[in-house]
Formats: sequence, C-alpha cells, structure tokens
Amino acid sequence: MIATNGYAAQSATTPMAPFSYEHREPGETDVLIDVQFCGICHSDIHQARNEWGNSLYPMVPGHEVIGTVAKVGSKVTKFKVGDLVGVGCMVDSCRECLSCREGLEQYCERGQTVFTYNSRDKQGNLTFGGYGSHLVADEAFVLSVPANLDPAAAAPLLCAGITTYSPLKHWNVGPGKKVGIVGLGGLGHMGLKFSHAFGATTALFTTSASKVEDAKRLGADEVILTKEEGWAAKHAGTFDFILDCVSAEHDINTYLSLLKRDGTLCLVGVPEKPLATAAFALVGARKSFAGSMIGGIQETQEMLDFCGKHNIVSDIEMTTFPQVNEAWERVLKSDVKYRFVLDLKTL
Ligand code: NAP
Ligand code: ZN
Ligand code: ZN
Repeated sequence: MIATNGYAAQSATTPMAPFSYEHREPGETDVLIDVQFCGICHSDIHQARNEWGNSLYPMVPGHEVIGTVAKVGSKVTKFKVGDLVGVGCMVDSCRECLSCREGLEQYCERGQTVFTYNSRDKQGNLTFGGYGSHLVADEAFVLSVPANLDPAAAAPLLCAGITTYSPLKHWNVGPGKKVGIVGLGGLGHMGLKFSHAFGATTALFTTSASKVEDAKRLGADEVILTKEEGWAAKHAGTFDFILDCVSAEHDINTYLSLLKRDGTLCLVGVPEKPLATAAFALVGARKSFAGSMIGGIQETQEMLDFCGKHNIVSDIEMTTFPQVNEAWERVLKSDVKYRFVLDLKTL
C-alpha cells in the first residue's frame, strides 16, 4: 500500500484538516504519481459540504492534479518514471458501453464512472484526490502534460479547462458566432480564453465590477455588468451560445432571453438548488437549455495539446495547505484571480 498524507473533510461541517491514508499498490496498468500541484475547484467545496447530497467521508478532494510519475506497472506503455502527468475528474469507467467506447467516459451508461474523489473504485474502496501527496491511477485515465506549460498553472486545465473546452467544441463555437460566458471564476476565465482562441466574438457576464479589465485581458470583447439596472434588455436575442459557469442560484430566464432563435444556453455550473425555467423562455424561439459535464479522456488530451500549442494556462494564485480553509472562503466570495492552486510541498 502507498502511505499518503493529505487534507480531508471528515464530515459536511468540519473544516479541512490533515489526514493520513493509503492508496492501492500500483497494479500492472497503474501509474503511481507524486503530486506536485492541485487546483481548487468550486466542486471541491460543494462536495465537501455535501451540497449535492452524494458525499462520502472522509473526503480528500482535488481533481486538477499535476505530478510526476514515480512508478509504473509492468504493462504500462504510455508513461515512464519522471514524466510530467495530469489527472482530472475521473480515474476509471466501465470501458465497454457505447459512451465509454466513444471516449465519453464521464457519461458511462452503466453509471460506472469512477471519479477521482468522492467515489468508489471497482474494488469498492473510496477514492482520494489531489489534496494528497500521491495518487494511483490506471494509465488509461492519466494525461500527458505538454513540457512548455508551467506545471502549476496547467493544473486547472484538468477540470476548469476541459469543462469549458468540451461544450464550446460540441456547440461549434468559432468565427462568426457570438458567445457569452457567465461568471468570471475558475471555469469562466478558461471559457473566455478558449472562446477567444476559437475565434468567436465573446462577451463576459459578471456580477463583479472589479473584474472588467481582467476579463478584457483574458479574451472578452465585451463585459456586461449584471448588477446594473436593465442590463439585459439591450442584449436580448443576440447570442448564439451562452456558457453558464455560475456556482450559485441565479435567474436563468434572463440569460435565455439573450439567445437568438435556435440558440443554446449550456450549464456547466452546478448550483445546489434547482434553477426555475419558464417554458416561454424556450418555446418562443426554439431555444435549447443544455448541460455538460467535464470531457472524455481523449478530448482532455486534445485540450492539453491545444493549450501546449497556443500557450494557454490558467491565471492562478498559489496557496498552501495550512491556508486551504481561508482559500475556500475566498472562492465562495468570488474573490480569486482566477484559480487557487495548492503546492504539495506545503503539506
Ligand atoms: P468559482 O471559481 O467560484 O466561479 C464561480 C463564479 O460564478 C464566480 O466567480 C462569480 O463570477 C459567479 N457567481 C458566484 N456567485 C454568484 C451569484 N450568486 N450570482 C451570479 N454569479 C455568481 O467556481 P468554479 O470552480 O469556476 O465552478 C463553477 C461551477 O461549476 C461550480 O458550481 C462547480 O461545481 C461547477 N463545475 C462543474 C463542472 C462540470 O463538469 N459541469 C466541472 C467543474 C465545476 P463573477 O464574480 O464574475 O460574477
Ligand atoms: Zn472541478
Ligand atoms: Zn461505460
């Protein structure tokens, strides 16, 4: 067994605190990773606090993981000791159903997607994520990280990156399209970068007046402040696609009113409570209200290679394990520019 030190939540109401545990000994197709950096995703907070009602404890969060390969199983072919690798939100799936065969393991039709934490592996053991010194994963779910990217700033690509890249690709965002990104947090700032890189005219919707200049630097052609009276009316019916990256309750019907006929609003944010949708917000112009979850392994590698080629990483603030609870509180206040990354040396 691989003795591991990390930080865990022991219940929905306890703060993150040091915790020692074990990962399985790497099997024939497994890779043992020495974790170097792990991004802080808002999903870590939702799950540690059981806001989605499916939490398993003790919980070691973290699914934006960058590290180096420390050991490989006898049948591993993709990696060797010393390689810089990443692990995102999944570490296994059934690998046989149609979705898995199509490279959409996050939508495994048998419900056998094994998430990096807050999940059970095929042996029934709890999975533990990147807020810990080591990780063991099958090589099929481990990603290669382009050598030209700063490893700490590449960590958030493993969740925030792929979660925004995948729907922008799926809905064919590119030149001639008008795209809106809602919320400038970890996901939103990657959504801006990708939409801009794909050549779409991109607007950011934000509740934070202090983020306007950053949004323009990150790729927004236009920034729309949603706390201003009457902000929505002048943009009604003008967007082809809106990617909603908001973590809390908000009025979805206002954003639907901004879509053109046949436009799509895709949720990637997962607020705790349901969002009430008015039928007339959709039926009047054949609009779609959709959702998307992370992205498959093949597409995650494609996204990382795209980032390598175009030199795209996250804008990060480094933080430490003793400060993780404070960092979470700042995330909850929409006060992070634009992703916290934990340095495993601070464990
Ligand atoms: P984050 O960094 O906290 O960003 C969320 C942003 O939403 C904030 O920066 C803020 O942007 C905006 N916001 C927050 N509260 C708001 C409110 N009450 N009304 C309007 N806007 C508000 O979070 P994140 O890590 O990017 O994650 C965002 C959401 O996506 C979370 O729910 C997370 O669980 C989910 N997620 C989903 C997937 C998936 O696969 N679908 C993957 C990862 C994360 P402004 O300051 O600009 O307004
Ligand atoms: Zn995430
Ligand atoms: Zn499957």
